[in-house]
Amino acid sequence: MNVEILSIGTEILMGELVDTNAPFLAARMPALGLTVRGIAQVGDSVEDLAEALARALQRSDVVITTGGLGPTQDDLTREAIARLLKEELQLDEALVEGLRSLFAGRGATMTPANLRQAYRIPSAQALPNRQGTAPGLWVQKDGKLIIALPGPPHEMQGLWEQEVLPRLQQRPQDAVIVTRTLKTFGLGELAIDAAIHGLFGQENPYLGIYAKADGVHLRIIARAATPAEAQRLIAPMEAEIRQALESYLWGVDDETPETRVGALLREHHLTLATMESLTGGALASSITDVQGSSDYFKGGFVAYTAAMKIAHGVPPELIQVHGVVSAPVAEAMAEAARMRAEADVGLGITGVAGPASLEGRPPGMAFLGLSFQGRTRSVEGRYIRGRPLVKRAATVHALLELYRFVTEQVAAQR
Ligand code: ATP
Repeated sequence: MNVEILSIGTEILMGELVDTNAPFLAARMPALGLTVRGIAQVGDSVEDLAEALARALQRSDVVITTGGLGPTQDDLTREAIARLLKEELQLDEALVEGLRSLFAGRGATMTPANLRQAYRIPSAQALPNRQGTAPGLWVQKDGKLIIALPGPPHEMQGLWEQEVLPRLQQRPQDAVIVTRTLKTFGLGELAIDAAIHGLFGQENPYLGIYAKADGVHLRIIARAATPAEAQRLIAPMEAEIRQALESYLWGVDDETPETRVGALLREHHLTLATMESLTGGALASSITDVQGSSDYFKGGFVAYTAAMKIAHGVPPELIQVHGVVSAPVAEAMAEAARMRAEADVGLGITGVAGPASLEGRPPGMAFLGLSFQGRTRSVEGRYIRGRPLVKRAATVHALLELYRFVTEQVAAQR
C-alpha cells in the first residue's frame, strides 16, 4: 500500500522552517508495510492544499498531512479536505466541550477563533490531542484514508504514538518491510562499494549505501509477508557484509557512538572526562545527549587556547616542542582531564577546524588522545568538508577510538 506525506505551511515554502515532520513519518512507514510514494510541501492556500491532496490520493491509498490545524485564518487543512471530499464542515459539540474543559483546566479563556478547531466533516473522526488544542483527523472515504495531524512536532508525534500508530497496526497488511542498518567508520563509499560489490543491485533484499557524519551506513531493506521472513532475507546479506567489513563496523540501527560508549562505560562501572579544543564543547554535548549519561560522564573542559590547556594541566613544554595540534598534546589533554576530574578514562581532542591551517598543520587534521587509568594512546584523524563536519567527524572518531581502547584495556586486565 502506498502513502504520501504532505507538510503544510508557507513557513516551510519560504525556507524559514525545516520540515522535520515528514522524515519522522517517512521513517515509520516501512514497518507498517507502507511505501512512501511521495513527500510534498504545500503553502497555506486552500486551493493548493486541495490540489495537492487530490494529486496524492490519485496514486496512493493513504495521505498523511501535518500542519494547518490551528485556530487561525491561515490554518486551512480542514477546509481543504472538506472541499476535496465535497462535504460540509460542521460544529462537533463533543469537540467544543473537549476544548472548553481543556481551556478551563489551563485557567485560560477560549476565544471564538478556537471554535474553528471543533469543526469536522461527517467522514472525519477526531483524534484527541493530549499535547495541544488541535485534534487530529482520521478521514476514511471511498477506500482512501487521510490522516491530518497538527504541525508542532511534539503534538504530531504524540498523536502518532497514541492514536495513529495503533490504528494503522490494526489494518490488514499485505507485506512488511524490515530494515537493518550497519554502520561503518574509516572507509569511504568507494572502498566499501568495491569490498561488497556483488551485494548491490538486488531488489529484495535491497542494499543502500549512505555517507553520514558518523561514517558510511549500509541499509538492508527486505519485504516479506512476515517480519520473520524478512529477517531470513536479511541475515545472509548481513553476514556477508560483516565478514567483508568487520573491523570497520561499529554499530547497528539506532546505535550512535555516544550510546555505544555509554553502554560500555556503564557495563564496566567506569567514568569519563574530556578536554576538547577543536570541537569546542561538541564532544561533551553529544555525550550528554544520552539519557543517564551522568552515571559515567564526570564532565569536560573546553580548553580552546594554548593558555587554557596549560591552565588545565597540559605541560607548556609539550606545546612548545610539538605544537598545539600534536599527538603528545592530545594525550596530555586526555590525561589532564582524567586526573582533574578523578575519572577512569580521559579523552582529549586537538585539531584544526579550518579553513586556514594552524602552525603548519592542515585544516581537518586532528589528534585524539585517550587515557585509561594512566595508560595513554593517540590517534591521528584527517577529516574534510568544512568546520561543522570536521567537528562532528572528530567527535565520532574520538568516541569510536575510545570504545576500542577501553575494550582492549579492560580485556587486557582480565
Ligand atoms: P497550531 O495549533 O500550533 O497552529 P498547526 O497544526 O496549525 O498547529 P502550523 O500552524 O502549521 O500547525 O505550525 C505550527 C508550528 O509547528 C510551526 O510554526 C512550526 O514551529 C511547527 N511545525 C509545523 N510544521 C512543521 C514541520 N513540517 N516540521 C517541523 N515543524 C513544524
